[in-house]
Amino acid sequence: MNGKKIRLSKSSISEAEKSAVLDVLDTEFLGMGAEVAHFEKEIKVYLQTEMEVACVSTGTAALHLALVALELGEGDEVLVPSITYVASYQAISATGATPVSCEVLSDTLFIDINDAERKVTLKTKAIMPVHYASSSVGMQEVYIFAQKHDLRVVEDAAQAFGSRRNGTLVGVSGDIICFSFDGIKNITSGEGGAILSKDRELMQKVQDSRLLAIEKDTQKRFSGQRSWDFDVKLQGFRYHMSNIMAAIGRVQLTRLESFKEKRQSVARKYVKELNALESVTFLSFDYQEVVPHIFVIKAQDRDNLRQFLLDNLIECGIHYKPNHLLTKYQTSELLAVSEALYSEILTLPCHNDLSDKEQDYVIEKIKEFYGK
Ligand SMILES: *Cc1c(COP(=O)(O)O)cnc(C)c1O
Repeated sequence: MNGKKIRLSKSSISEAEKSAVLDVLDTEFLGMGAEVAHFEKEIKVYLQTEMEVACVSTGTAALHLALVALELGEGDEVLVPSITYVASYQAISATGATPVSCEVLSDTLFIDINDAERKVTLKTKAIMPVHYASSSVGMQEVYIFAQKHDLRVVEDAAQAFGSRRNGTLVGVSGDIICFSFDGIKNITSGEGGAILSKDRELMQKVQDSRLLAIEKDTQKRFSGQRSWDFDVKLQGFRYHMSNIMAAIGRVQLTRLESFKEKRQSVARKYVKELNALESVTFLSFDYQEVVPHIFVIKAQDRDNLRQFLLDNLIECGIHYKPNHLLTKYQTSELLAVSEALYSEILTLPCHNDLSDKEQDYVIEKIKEFYGK
């Protein structure tokens, strides 16, 4: 492939994003203002939802603010799958609460509710299911479980913007949903994230706390004003989204339909072409519904396959090292399923600009490795 590395993931930026950013620069109003208000409105329109939308600086900030708004802190516990990006864990521990690592199901890597059931205590206040590789099959069981134990649900849907479950877009309903718009997610705003909920009181807290908890500052900024005589009652953060970021996000939202088709067709092609290999298995996802942020296989002899692909200039990933194996979050308990999966999972290149030729080459090299 001309000595050029095939990338695992990347942003996809057209002239439209560039000119939208230049337009914002021309206004000389770069912080949080009208552009962010438009982006929030357009997300709401895209999802056709009653949920309120608040955009913030990152997906991690979205998760953190959601948990802060739930007033979690020292002594509280949050159930979370061990296999997720460490952002989920950092957001929980940033509040002072303890992330409690749960097993995942081996066919979807979604949180194992039976394990969550074993780990729920009187200290448990919330559960954070992760839309692993953009799928959230099993979410219904999470809500039944949460209702039974009187828990709030903060969905880490960082990877799932544009994905559907039972025909409905993720984010249309649910307790609290957090998206990420970082550079390589399904759409990007450079960095960025969003929190969605129908809980008005909670969303007012979120809106205030993203701007140093200055009361009603969001409303002021959206109409081009500033707050001079204000009150602050809560801990706040500088987690707002800027107009520059929103300008990128607004254009990306108009491109989501084409991103969706591309990502789904990449996933389907991998499944079709690699299906015959006994050494490779797939997550059981429906790629009519899921818009895959990452494409993950379970591979025998994973480390050697990974090295072989790297030697052939194909970038691969491992999503993720189980968090209970990290120093900060380690437990004495064994999570056998997660640890076994950790030695098998491999993420193959999947992004909007992956060419047919590049994907064919990846497929050919995987077949070659297994001697097919
Ligand atoms: C990307 C991601 C996040 C964090 O989002 P950022 O925008 O990068 O802060 C959280 N959880 C998961 C599962 C993610 O993939």
